[in-house]
Formats: sequence, C-alpha cells, structure tokens
Amino acid sequence: MAKAKILRLILGDQLNANHSWFRKTDRDVVYTIMEVRQETDYVKHHIQKVAGFFAAMRSFADELSGQGHRVIYLRLDDSENEQHIEPNLKNLVKKEKITRFEYLLPDEYRLDRQLASIASRLPVPTESFDTEHFLTTRTDLKELFEGKKRYLMESFYRHMRKEHNILLEDGKPAGGKWNYDQSNRNRYDGAVPLPLAKVYKNDVTDIAEMIHRSGARTFGEIEPERFIWPVSRRQALDQLAEFVRDRLPHFGTYQDAMTTESWSLFHSRLSFALNTKMLHPMEVIQSAIQQSRKPSKRSVKIEQLEGFVRQILGWREYMRGIYWAHMPDYETLNHFGHKGDLPEFYWTADTRMQCMQAAISQSLEHAYAHHIQRLMVTGNFALLAGVHPDQVDAWYLGIYIDAVQWVEIVNTRGMSQFADGGMVATKPYISSANYIRKMSDYCDRCWYDPGAKTGDRGCPFNCLYWDFLKRHRRKLERNPRVSMMDRTLDRMKDDTRQQLLNQARKYKARLNTL
Ligand SMILES: Cc1cc2nc3c(=O)[nH]c(=O)nc-3n(C[C@H](O)[C@H](O)[C@H](O)COP(=O)(O)OP(=O)(O)OC[C@H]3O[C@@H](n4cnc5c(N)ncnc54)[C@H](O)[C@@H]3O)c2cc1C
Ligand code: SF4
Repeated sequence: MAKAKILRLILGDQLNANHSWFRKTDRDVVYTIMEVRQETDYVKHHIQKVAGFFAAMRSFADELSGQGHRVIYLRLDDSENEQHIEPNLKNLVKKEKITRFEYLLPDEYRLDRQLASIASRLPVPTESFDTEHFLTTRTDLKELFEGKKRYLMESFYRHMRKEHNILLEDGKPAGGKWNYDQSNRNRYDGAVPLPLAKVYKNDVTDIAEMIHRSGARTFGEIEPERFIWPVSRRQALDQLAEFVRDRLPHFGTYQDAMTTESWSLFHSRLSFALNTKMLHPMEVIQSAIQQSRKPSKRSVKIEQLEGFVRQILGWREYMRGIYWAHMPDYETLNHFGHKGDLPEFYWTADTRMQCMQAAISQSLEHAYAHHIQRLMVTGNFALLAGVHPDQVDAWYLGIYIDAVQWVEIVNTRGMSQFADGGMVATKPYISSANYIRKMSDYCDRCWYDPGAKTGDRGCPFNCLYWDFLKRHRRKLERNPRVSMMDRTLDRMKDDTRQQLLNQARKYKARLNTL
C-alpha cells in the first residue's frame, strides 16, 4: 500500500516545539502554518498582538524547517492565500496530493467547531491530536465537580497540587498553608527597587507594514524595529530565566500593587509565551521551584513561590476548565442585563481618571496590563458603568498580547463582569476609590478626589459603586459578601443617598468626558 501523504495544520497558538509530532522528520508529512484575515478580523486587534503572533509563527516555522521538517508557510500577502483556513487547506490537499489531514485540537470553541466541520468536508480521512500543553483535559474540571453547583477554584487548586505533587511535603502543603493569598496584597512601598521590564528588540517592521498594507483593522502602538515581546522559544526561555531570578523573589508581595512608576512591576509577562505554547506550564512551574531551591542572596520564600504557582497550576487550568464546561452559552451570559456602550476613552486613554489613564495608556503602548489593572481598574469601571459584556469582551480580546478566548472570556465575562452570575467569582469585583487608593499611587496625582463622593471632583468610582449596588440589590441581596454594603446603603441618610445617585446619573450621562 502506498504511504499516506499527511498534511498537518498548526494554528498560531500551537507553537509547542516539544510536541510528539516533531520527534522525527518525515518527507511525507507536510506542516502548514497560515496567516489569515479570518484570524486578524474576528475582533479589532492591537497591532502588537497580530504582529507578535505572526512573528512567533514565522520563527516557529523556521525552527521546524531547520530541523528538516517540511513546512508550507502562508504569509498574509501571499497571492495564493485565500485568507480562510478551509479554502487554503483544500488547495493544499489538492496541490500536494494529500491523502490524510491531521490537526491539533484548538483551544478556542470557535476554531474547534470550524475545524471539526472542515474535517468532515475534506475529501481525505482526518484525525485530531492533543496539543500536549495543558495539565488538564478539557473535561477534567467538570468531571471533578460532577453534581456540584459551583466549581471552587481553591478545591481544584489543591487537587492539582496533589495530582502533580507540587509544593507538598509528606503530602502536606509546603510551609504549612495551601494558600498565601493574605501575604499577596501589599501596596508597592519602595522597599525593593522596581525592576525594568525585560524586553526584546525584535525587528518586525516587515510584518507590521504587511499588516497595514493588508487593510486589517488594528489599533494601539508599536515600535516595529524594537518589538518587545519574545517571539521564539529561545527568547521565551530567556524571559522565564530572568523572571525567576529577578522578579519571583518579590512576585507574591507586590502581586496586587499598582504604580505609575512601572507597567509590569514584578509580574512575569509570560502569558504570551504560555498562550502561544512556546512555554509549557509545567516547565514554568518547575523553573520557579528550582530557583527557590538555589542558595541565593535573593531567596524565593514560600509565599512568593506559592503565589506564582497558584496562578499557573490553579487559575490558568481552572479558567480553561470553566470555558469548556460552559461554552458556547458562556459567551452570551449577561447576569445584570447591562446594555451600555464602552466609553470612547478605552481606545484613547483620554480621561481625567488617572487610574484609567494609566492602565489604558500602557495597554495601548505595550498591549499589556497586569491582573489587578485589568480587574480592579478597567474591568471594575466597565462593570460599575453598566457596559454590555459583549463590548467589554471585545476590548479585552483585542487589546492584550495574551488574549485568546478560552482564557480571556472567563476572566472578563466571569471574573471581572460577573456576567455568569457567580460561576467563577463569589462576588462581583467592584470597588470605590478606596481600593485603588490603597493599592496604588494613582489617586495622588488624579484630577478627581478619591475622598469625595459628590461635587465636580467627586471620584466617579465612588458614586458609581453605590449606584451599582442600588441598581442590582435584588440580584445581590442573597450574596453574603455584598449584603453588608447593601445595609450600609440602607443606613445612609436619604439626602446623602440621593446626592450619590444624582451624581452617578450625571456621570453616566457623560461617561465619554469623565
Ligand atoms: C478582565 C481580565 C481579562 C484577562 N484576560 C486574559 C487573557 O486574555 N489572557 C490571559 O492569559 N490572561 C488574562 N487575564 C488573566 C491575567 O490578568 C493575565 O494572565 C496576566 O495579567 C498576564 O500577565 P503576566 O504573564 O505578567 O502574569 P503573572 O502575574 O506573572 O502571572 C503568571 C501567569 O499566571 C497565569 N495567570 C495569572 N492569572 C490568571 C488568570 N486569572 N487566569 C488565567 N491565567 C492566569 C498567566 O498565564 C500568567 O502569565 C485576564 C484577567 C482579567 C481580570
Ligand atoms: S481618584 Fe478615582 S479616578 Fe482618580 S485615580 Fe483615584 S480611583 Fe481613579
């Protein structure tokens, strides 16, 4: 029997150099990687996100070719590129006389459905394979919590620690506690100098020009001759090494801190390398653990290490499990029935609110904001202002270098907007100016007064916070974590409450000019 000629598709977020597919070379196996308008256009993207994915895909293709694999790489401006996966695959099957098609299971529901249906229409047998990236399968989380109403992240995380024997001593949590979250809530106090963000100087000028020429709609800034994100496994490993050595010793302490002096503080900025699969989550975890064992001047204490491990072993896998347990319904959830438009300043950073200005302008500049900026500044504001979750989702999916729907939507619609009614978060992540003032230096130089609830300079977060609680009290009254605030609202003098609500009404009528 003649040997099959196999076409294997690799998507832009499937750049796993250690996948078993690549263990041996075979001239009868053709790999294809494609830049397509289908993927640049499903949402309006930050230019760095598109350029970053294309640069990483190109460097991955070069690595595979260098190892002797046969790779057909379709650039966005190639004349034979049909800009959609299906016609491109059909052309390749015909041109290369392919007798079998194989693909790696996509992590996004949209692509998963699309590839399954393409596969059913191709004139050759097809098979799908695992990406060999995640530590759980799509259905593990759902199965673990079978019959339970809520999927608790903390229980899942402990299960994962045991399952993978991570930070355990004789079956007990290292250091005596499962979770050091309480030690991860410090404001930046200057006790240790802020590290400079580790950046690369990749030249992506050709890619950026090609994207602009193509007419794909993008936004945000880029310095194409000094593109800062890692675009190869070598750079991703270098970024990981730098993180565990220089930032991890203080990661946990300042995990929730925000400051105008640094756009990434002690965060790893590894999410792009992880989500494109240039790095494997277990190698990141092990690298952090190895560092903590090294005798070093900057030792990594358990509260720093556990705080970091929890993000990857816990949150990241948990979010993926929630995604597969609840898609496709998840992307239509809108618990509060919010209908508002996303204010214009999300695209321009043109606002007098210093916290919003800082978080948005660095996002436009670097396609990055750290977790608390996403959750407690931009996400908090969108929720308080009653923005439709579809618009909030589209913004987060477009603006961040690491935004892939499986992780973006559960964080945005679930954790940040509570649009899932509490599947992920036990209460809505809302706050007045108090939290932002406590955790950052933003309020120090803001036009608004964090202590004022009303008046010209009243901080918008203050009145919008109470307005939100008032509007949604029916939906929140049974939530013990919010009902205390409800009672505070009840105890307010009538005219104080009315002034707050009037202020909120005025601000909501002119959100774009705040
Ligand atoms: C509204 C909102 C939207 C978000 N959208 C995305 C997104 O599109 N893509 C994305 O990867 N993360 C997203 N997150 C989670 C988190 O903010 C980012 O993973 C993190 O900021 C990336 O920066 P870092 O690599 O420096 O993370 P670090 O703070 O250094 O954390 C280390 C790693 O842990 C993982 N991690 C941490 N928190 C989470 C989390 N909540 N969910 C999943 N993984 C986590 C990431 O892989 C991250 O790289 C979002 C959070 C919010 C609140
Ligand atoms: S005063 Fe209000 S708007 Fe200004 S930085 Fe503080 S929280 Fe943000």
